Amino acid sequence: MSDSSRLRIAVQKKGRLSDDSIALLKAIGIKLQIRDRLLIAHSTNQPIDLLLVRDDDIPGLVMDGVVDLGFIGQNELEEKMLERQAAGKKAEYIELRRLDYGGCRLSIAVPNEMDYQGIQSLQGKKVATTYPFLLERFFKEKNINASTVMLTGSVEVAPRAGVADAICDLVSTGATLEANGLQEADEIFVSKAVFIQRAGEMPEAKQALISKMLPRMDGVTQAKESKYIMLHAPKAYLEQVKSLLPGSENPTVLPLSGNDNLVAIHVVSPETLFWETMEKLKALGCSSILVMPIEKMMS
Ligand code: ATP
Ligand code: MG
Repeated sequence: MSDSSRLRIAVQKKGRLSDDSIALLKAIGIKLQIRDRLLIAHSTNQPIDLLLVRDDDIPGLVMDGVVDLGFIGQNELEEKMLERQAAGKKAEYIELRRLDYGGCRLSIAVPNEMDYQGIQSLQGKKVATTYPFLLERFFKEKNINASTVMLTGSVEVAPRAGVADAICDLVSTGATLEANGLQEADEIFVSKAVFIQRAGEMPEAKQALISKMLPRMDGVTQAKESKYIMLHAPKAYLEQVKSLLPGSENPTVLPLSGNDNLVAIHVVSPETLFWETMEKLKALGCSSILVMPIEKMMS
């Protein structure tokens, strides 16, 4: 079952990071057959195995060298690193790429009725969190003498349950906080998903495979952020039109058969065209303005 020549990648089995991580692997050409409830999934076209686990386990699996690579949120990674350092365990890894998903922030939130006058208001208070090491580091930096209460779930109900005075939890929209009568008071850590590698020697064949994966990942990320823009523009306003198109120093300009006044412009833009810009282009006499997604890129 465990073949050490195959690259092992740890991915969250179920949760906020799993779909995007698996989609990214598929997008870079790795064919995967993922069956429910199985811990391991083999790629059918690459010497790659996925280990599908809880996200809490991923930093440790990478730092212990049980897997070669992992997709993980920076919040979880940093927390586990501090925890392992405190326990005298190996806490090394190599960050290969920051990814464009899994964005969230670890914030302190307090009950709406609390008279919060800045972080000093937490002096002597109890704060419930799943991230005690990150929180304690923050308190230390700010010279706050507060105690942390470790909870692995339902952190947001801790103040109402009388378990703590405030909480420190992950937030993306703030809807959960609002629903629980809490307000965000201080942001302590901003996080995104990252792709990491274990420290230490890597067999040549595995390293070669990783080196092939990374530019493909960059291509997928870049393509997601880019758009292919096509339009017809009046020759007379070519310079004005170009200045409205983002990232178009050297667009492709093509003649239109049977029309000497118009040209076709094609450009790969690092960002989308906003409606406002499209309206300005139209006002200059442009027509047939198309903004299209790009699937893959390699420069
Ligand atoms: P598991 O069962 O794997 O332990 P979990 O409940 O710990 O799952 P999820 O809620 O799936 O974890 O979140 C996984 C990661 O997704 C978080 O650690 C964080 O990096 C990221 N994330 C992005 N947005 C949010 C959010 N709004 N709330 C929580 N986590 C978020
Ligand atoms: Mg978890």
